Amino acid sequence: MSKKILILPGDGIGPEIVAEAVKLIERLRADFGLNVELEHGLIGGSAYDAKRHPLPEDTLRLAQAADAVLLGAVGGHKWESLPIALRPEKGLLGLRAGLTLFSNLRPAILYPQLAAASTLKSEIVAGLDIMIVRELTGGIYFGQPRGIRTLDNGERQGFNTLVYSESEIERIGRSAFNIAMKRNKRLCSVDKANVLECTELWREIMTGLAKDYPEVELTHMYVDNAAMQLVRAPKQFDVMVTTNMFGDILSDCAAMLTGSIGMLPSASLDAKGKGMYEPIHGSAPDIAGKGIANPLATILSVAMMLRYTLNEQALAQRVERAVNKVLDQGLRTADIHTAGCEKVGTARIGDAVCAAL
Ligand code: NAD
Repeated sequence: MSKKILILPGDGIGPEIVAEAVKLIERLRADFGLNVELEHGLIGGSAYDAKRHPLPEDTLRLAQAADAVLLGAVGGHKWESLPIALRPEKGLLGLRAGLTLFSNLRPAILYPQLAAASTLKSEIVAGLDIMIVRELTGGIYFGQPRGIRTLDNGERQGFNTLVYSESEIERIGRSAFNIAMKRNKRLCSVDKANVLECTELWREIMTGLAKDYPEVELTHMYVDNAAMQLVRAPKQFDVMVTTNMFGDILSDCAAMLTGSIGMLPSASLDAKGKGMYEPIHGSAPDIAGKGIANPLATILSVAMMLRYTLNEQALAQRVERAVNKVLDQGLRTADIHTAGCEKVGTARIGDAVCAAL
């Protein structure tokens, strides 16, 4: 039976980069037997313009019925003065919540051809390939009670609660172990178990889960050390799993090791492997409509979709190899351009990836 993919281009460069990803999916369908159906919907500012809401009901319905969602990006100056509940970003958050996407996968891959783009020495980062699995719907960002209160002495006090139940930890743990099984079978769980009881429980549950995954080598690391190791010797990591807040910080740190925001895909999965796939960058209003945006983060998001939702490992590898070939050919969009390479636009990169399949 064919799988359904909902395409949500969004705002700014969203439609331009998603068009290249759709071109790729159509090619995989025509020439490589990929059995999918595409549907299209509105999200973000463009949805607000058409339907007065950043996440129209029909978009949420289509997303709930789909096996996977491919999203470009949302946001832009035009919608910045709207009430918060109607801003484009609310569309994205609503979709994550509406689909119960609790497992956020953020790879940090540095293609050797782009090693010069990193602020770190090439030998530290060339060939880097890490996957950070971040818990996305719990922890201190959602814990109750929270707020700012006034104490008896008149001083104000801000407070938040770090809370994880066993089932929440087990759910993200299983997601991470399963991902490690599809990669190099090494998983590092990041916590602060020496200070925070909540992550003491986190460590205990992760250790217990390891018995179900005897092939995976599980290690534990405190978050402060993990941050240090990420910039000292990042290639020691394969898969990392951590809480919402630690993951938020570490995944941005890892992303910047690669030096190029236009190259990084992401996935957010539910318990059954249904996922939303999107580049990590935003809608880049400064370059929207110019045909110069880098579509590779979105194209690599399709590769993640093939691997994690559609179970098409061979096609995922084929897409990743095609991206590698295009980089070998010296084709670059402006954001990753260096001397000696040919500077080309969005569509030319998309065409080159299709040709290299
Ligand atoms: P941004 O990621 O859109 O852009 C940051 C810089 O990177 C810009 O100079 C941009 O031109 C460049 N850039 C980003 N993607 C690129 C690509 N594919 N190719 C080449 N260059 C690229 O971040 P921002 O400027 O802070 O935010 C712009 C808008 O995007 C805001 O409205 C923000 O809220 C929104 N945003 C959305 C998402 C999302 O949809 N997931 C994420 C972050 C920001």
